[in-house]
Amino acid sequence: GACCGVGEGGICACSCLDFPFKEGNSTCPKCNHARISHYCWWNRYVANPIKFNGYTGRGRRAMLILKNQIMPRILLRRTKVQCADDLALPPRTVILRRDAFDAREADFYEALYTQSQAQFNTYVASGVLLQNYAHVFDLLIRLRQAVDHPYLVVHSATATGAAAGAQAAAAMGGLDGARNVQPEDLAGAGSPGCRDAPEALVCAICHEDVEQPARAECGHTFCRVCVLEYVETATTKQARCPTCDKPLTVDLSAGEGSPDKPAPGAGGRASGGGGATAPKAPKKHSILSRINLPGFQSSTKIEALREELHHMVARDPSAKALVFSQFTSMLDLCQHRLEQVGIRCVRLEGGMTLDVRERMIEAFTHDQGVKVFLMSLKAGGVALNLTAASHVMLMDPWWNPAVEAQAQDRIHRLGQHKPITVTRFVIGGTIEERILKLQEKKQLVFEGTVGRDVEALARLTEDDLRFLFS
Ligand SMILES: [Zn+2]
Ligand SMILES: [Zn+2]
Ligand SMILES: [Zn+2]
Ligand SMILES: [Zn+2]
Repeated sequence: GACCGVGEGGICACSCLDFPFKEGNSTCPKCNHARISHYCWWNRYVANPIKFNGYTGRGRRAMLILKNQIMPRILLRRTKVQCADDLALPPRTVILRRDAFDAREADFYEALYTQSQAQFNTYVASGVLLQNYAHVFDLLIRLRQAVDHPYLVVHSATATGAAAGAQAAAAMGGLDGARNVQPEDLAGAGSPGCRDAPEALVCAICHEDVEQPARAECGHTFCRVCVLEYVETATTKQARCPTCDKPLTVDLSAGEGSPDKPAPGAGGRASGGGGATAPKAPKKHSILSRINLPGFQSSTKIEALREELHHMVARDPSAKALVFSQFTSMLDLCQHRLEQVGIRCVRLEGGMTLDVRERMIEAFTHDQGVKVFLMSLKAGGVALNLTAASHVMLMDPWWNPAVEAQAQDRIHRLGQHKPITVTRFVIGGTIEERILKLQEKKQLVFEGTVGRDVEALARLTEDDLRFLFS
């Protein structure tokens, strides 16, 4: 029948599971074949439901069967969890902490979301969604930042002059102003005291100072992690530069060996002529320099972090935590707030000398008073053994679940003696929940696939984008 293809190519239609044998007839009138009493379990419960229903309904159940019943039997996989016994690694618990915005944040987010959705729908209506992938990706970044803290949108490095006016209006101004800002436009905008060192470039993807610069062939520079995420998620074969719209070509192998040093010339403007002096690390400007600190307001997420850290120390006074965010500015805000309430933090930054870094790690490992190590996902590639920490706080979800796993592995390794707690912070009803749902779906599809397509895990298809903005 039409349901399974049986009946074509010389196979009698009675082989179909749904063939309507007449009551009392035990054989097929056409081929005299006996009423079949067996069926292909694979086709019936796995292949066909997925083929005909995709990820929904029966298809989803089929994927779960595939993942939970079939794959474990045919693939010999050794994950960290399964290896825990062999390696004597302590157990790991992952907690999803879901909070709700307060009224002020909700207003801000709703305004931004409504505006973003309208923009998105315009692209869909004109059939130019994928051509505008750079802008859509930017809308997503802005929404993700707004969930962490509205300041990340209002006071971002590219939101020049947007601080005036109502907060929501300012966010919109920030959004528009953020588009196509050339790093050159911002160079020289710093205070006079900064003149001895080159200004840090601003990444057109995350709107923060560039970390681990990766220079595209068109001449624009981005954070290595940002451009990687941007290219990985793009469905179109040739991603385009978010700034100049030229085909984006970035050699990411350059600088991989020395993840801590900015690539030569990455600081943008060289400091005057000559070049006899060693180039200084680019001056970075914390988001804290752009906000009115006495009037500092926290966010639901930062308060959730504060609360979790408070509980952590109450349960175990010797416990320490690694706090991860994709956004450097979020770490700035977390640090400011935590130090306000007396929680001491250390932090690694791109321009730090080896000496300073070692002192930071030393302090975190041995100083009882230091509770938190703030880590930027962008600092990446730094091989650190931070087993002094037994808690991992993931402030925002990432597209690629593998990156989250890497963050957790920083402390879940040999030398770790305490049970590990991983807390993922999510604000309900926001883009973050959609990202998690999308991740779950992709992971399910991924784990049910032989010859796993790692790239598909990160890619955002047109359907995925619609789901995120629906
Ligand atoms: Zn059939
Ligand atoms: Zn037959
Ligand atoms: Zn960036
Ligand atoms: Zn460009």
